[in-house]
Amino acid sequence: MHAGISSLELVARVRGGERRAIARMLSRAESGSAEAREALDLLYRGAGRAHVVGITGVPGSGKSTLVAKLIAAVLDTGRKIGVVAIDPSSPFSGGSILGDRIRMSEVTSHPSVFVRSMATRGALGGLAHGTFEAVDVLDAAGYDMVFIETVGVGQDEVDVVRAAHTTVVVSAPGLGDDVQAIKAGILEIADVHAVSKADKPEADQTVTELKSMLALALPRAGLKRAVPVIRTSAARGEGIVELLTAIDAHREHLIASGQYEKRRQSIRERRMLKAAEQVLHEAFERNRQGCMADLVAELAAGTLSPQGAARRLLAQIGIAGTR
Ligand code: GDP
Repeated sequence: MHAGISSLELVARVRGGERRAIARMLSRAESGSAEAREALDLLYRGAGRAHVVGITGVPGSGKSTLVAKLIAAVLDTGRKIGVVAIDPSSPFSGGSILGDRIRMSEVTSHPSVFVRSMATRGALGGLAHGTFEAVDVLDAAGYDMVFIETVGVGQDEVDVVRAAHTTVVVSAPGLGDDVQAIKAGILEIADVHAVSKADKPEADQTVTELKSMLALALPRAGLKRAVPVIRTSAARGEGIVELLTAIDAHREHLIASGQYEKRRQSIRERRMLKAAEQVLHEAFERNRQGCMADLVAELAAGTLSPQGAARRLLAQIGIAGTR
């Protein structure tokens, strides 16, 4: 493939499912370059068919091992599956996994699987560029399902999984906290709960605790649908098909109840706001340096309060009024 390939040509090849074109498009998305913008907008318009599934849980909860097994289960149904891994502990991004029980390369080199690891953080500390766009690219390239795998600990990561149609929260027995999802504040964002490592004896207790927490929390959150709790053991290959069935059933439920389109619209709105925030943040970081000296001097002299200086700074940058 020629290095100077045009955006239009690249878009056509991505739509044709060409792996090298997809990889290149994903790199462009991650770089956040202006030249990528046009192509990504085109691809966005052709996307919207894939079932986007967010999979989250604290580090060590067994997400990556489970994702590897789920990929195989999706392939068994004849579907193509894309994965965007933004978990720094994920073996997809270089971590370790159940000894050699699951050979990751066997899963990821399958022609119907495309796995992409994304940098967790951008240069400015926020979520890396292009996470949502990476999902669009895989969607437009014809992947029937796209998993977003991330660590459910920070607000950015929670925002990412909330951009999925179906969110799976993975809890593992024996990690110290009884149900880690509660501590991480991600209990209520789950459409499906997976209790991983069900081969461990403590798994029963985790299931019981999770169910009783859900019985308390969900009515408060105004949820009418019972959220399924699926026991899975990646080590024994148990509960994987059941988990996939629950994920599929959630999408069918969204469609049948008319909530699918609503959820898609709220995802679009959230993405718009995130994109705007990112642009704002970048503009701020780029432009503030030149304005600082005078303001810092006024702060030192006590002629401006920090609040007043902040308003003046924003006005000088042109981001906000002087109100
Ligand atoms: P992640 O950080 O959430 O992606 O978790 P990993 O998938 O890397 O798994 C964390 C640890 O749990 C690893 O040592 C795995 O070998 C182990 N593990 C994962 N799945 C299972 C399972 O089904 N049963 C048992 N007993 N251990 C598991």
